[in-house]
Amino acid sequence: MTKKSGKLIIVSAPSGSGKSTIVGELIKDKELRLQFSVSATTRKPRGEEKHGVHYYFLDVDDFKRRIERDEFAEFEEVYEGRFYGTLKSELERIMAAGDNAVLDIDVKGALSVKKLYGDRALTLFIQPPSIEVLRERLLGRGTDSLEEIEKRIAKAAYELTFAPHFDAVIVNDVLVTAVEDTRRAIVDFLES
Ligand code: 5GP
Repeated sequence: MTKKSGKLIIVSAPSGSGKSTIVGELIKDKELRLQFSVSATTRKPRGEEKHGVHYYFLDVDDFKRRIERDEFAEFEEVYEGRFYGTLKSELERIMAAGDNAVLDIDVKGALSVKKLYGDRALTLFIQPPSIEVLRERLLGRGTDSLEEIEKRIAKAAYELTFAPHFDAVIVNDVLVTAVEDTRRAIVDFLES
């Protein structure tokens, strides 16, 4: 059966679950016709992050103006004072190219987009094996302060409670297995 395009694959996970690595691997698979949906955010760029590639880095006033103009498919204040949102124009751009959009967004945003797009959207939750493993991974990444890491862990414990509402849950214990499980879920969805 031919794989349909113009669908949405929404991937949520506590930060440090390996979500970005898994998504990055799957985007390389040209057969899946996946394109990363670049979100808008009011947080500052980290490390090598580039505007228009990893995020559209906007100031708060610009972000709020876009909310008023109804430019977002969804947006959330993921961390206190820091907004993240999916621009409708970004999803339209990807679908117009005949591709499937991959959204790496938080749990609430994921469920909002699912509500909006219904059967056109697949929600995947990538779960770390445990909170302890997650803490080790965040420390190992070395990009965040200890305070930031504790914030992310508190958030992760909360996000884990949303897992049952997703179409599929993938436990990322061994990365290659998690990539394969995610790929299978996406292929089944695109062929359905
Ligand atoms: P980070 O600051 O580490 O890049 O991302 C923090 C969190 O924001 C992650 O859980 C990520 O999935 C989420 N996020 C990124 N973009 C969006 C978005 O457009 N909408 C929502 N709701 N969450 C987002």
